[in-house]
Amino acid sequence: MRKVRVRFAPSPTGPLHIGGVRTALYNYLFARQNGGDMILRIEDTDQTRFVPGAEDYIIEALDWLGIKFDEGVHIGGNFGPYRQSDRKPMYRQYADQLIRDGWAYYAFDRPEALDAKRKEYESQKKTFQYDCNTRADMENSLALPADEVQRRLDSGEPYVVRFKFPENIDITVHDLIRGDVTMNSRLLDDKVLFKSDGMPTYHLANIVDDHLMEVSHVIRGEEWLPSAPLHVMLYKAFGWEDTMPQFAHLPLLLKPDGNGKLSKRDGDRLGFPVFPLDWHNPETGEISSGYRERGYLPEAVVNMLALLGWNPGNDQEILSMDELIKMFSIEHISKSGAKFNVEKAKWFNHEYLQKCPDEQLAEMFLPQLKEHGITIADDINFQLSTFNFQYVVKVCGMMKERISFPSELWDQTHYFFVAPTEYDPKAVAKRWKPGMTTHMAKVIEILNTVPFEYDAIHQALLEDYIKGNELNMGQIMNSLRLAVVGTTVGPDMLTLVMTIGKEETISRVQRAIDTLGEIDN
Ligand code: GLU
Repeated sequence: MRKVRVRFAPSPTGPLHIGGVRTALYNYLFARQNGGDMILRIEDTDQTRFVPGAEDYIIEALDWLGIKFDEGVHIGGNFGPYRQSDRKPMYRQYADQLIRDGWAYYAFDRPEALDAKRKEYESQKKTFQYDCNTRADMENSLALPADEVQRRLDSGEPYVVRFKFPENIDITVHDLIRGDVTMNSRLLDDKVLFKSDGMPTYHLANIVDDHLMEVSHVIRGEEWLPSAPLHVMLYKAFGWEDTMPQFAHLPLLLKPDGNGKLSKRDGDRLGFPVFPLDWHNPETGEISSGYRERGYLPEAVVNMLALLGWNPGNDQEILSMDELIKMFSIEHISKSGAKFNVEKAKWFNHEYLQKCPDEQLAEMFLPQLKEHGITIADDINFQLSTFNFQYVVKVCGMMKERISFPSELWDQTHYFFVAPTEYDPKAVAKRWKPGMTTHMAKVIEILNTVPFEYDAIHQALLEDYIKGNELNMGQIMNSLRLAVVGTTVGPDMLTLVMTIGKEETISRVQRAIDTLGEIDN
């Protein structure tokens, strides 16, 4: 059996869209499952679309997500170079081979002449295509006399090399997801393979490289399906049919409403990232937000993307990278587009945050604490701060089930670090009833007299004082919460008291008594 070798072959024309990330992921899962190789090849033959920083961005994004390569532009390998611009001198001979064998021809048409042709067709409500029906009317080596072609070549006239599709043949692409897809060559245009700047186009470079790099499977987005008949013909033309890779064209990632391809604008409009990392556009200065900076965990993004277009054949939703590698199969990739679901993305992140060790969450929380002026003791400044790292760890552990993103931690936990300065007026009106200062004074007395332990306080306050005197449990406990938190949210009240400590609780309760005072009637 042939060794599985797959490649992810992005063009560095901007930040990597999450659709592209999913393509990389599926390639990676397939490679790992089959003990194969995963290659990162940069397809930068179109120098006009080159964007500085895009290549580094792609590498950093995939590394963040745990999509690892065995060979590639950043790590080398036995089949390099892995950047097409660095392979430039290799391609010419393949274009020449196709011309020599009658599979390609020189075309001298100037851009203005092609434009004029297009306009002429448009005026007759037709679309111009450079193909078997029109090539005889154009300036190329099939239409011009041989000596004229030679003269033009000798005089250095610019030309491109075009593929010569045979007339009226059916070309079948066998796709592992879609089955046989057949197209007639009459519908296909004679694509440019080699440009006047001495660079191959995507089509030529892609086929030559897949061949030389011994790629066994081409797993890529559906948008490349229309190019596949040309690619199949190129393998035939080169005589490489025996080692032609197998093709799998992945379904599109669709907008949340299912109407069309997911775009950057959908992300801006609906408030979710469509890029893995923040991207700073070097030309406009515009920043597009990324999953990483929004607080998504890489494991959550991988899990979510894996299930956009593939399913494990059962209803398991939480799947680690290792499980995905075991369970992945091309047969379970769907043919139809997969709708992006923002709520589901958040749900995955919530689930993975719950799995995240409390220490790791606490680390993520530190910058926010600092922003709010809370210093956390470390070995050096432990005398200067009220809180140590273990306290932050404990708070994170206690509160993480309420958050989907680390950025929500401060909102959910600020009262563990700072006493309230205001009390929610609605809650005050509802809970702080006549006699409450007496009850709160009693709370202080209990805290001062019974051992500071959960069970002891529970017995003294809830059982002996409140129940024993047939007092209103909800009112007193919620007023205590109001005093400690400022509103009526938060975890179990006594756990909260135990966490912030005796002194802090007493001081907060005293402050509430002083601030809210006794209510008449
Ligand atoms: N360079 C192409 C892209 O940007 C690669 C397509 C393919 O995988 O053949 O997606």
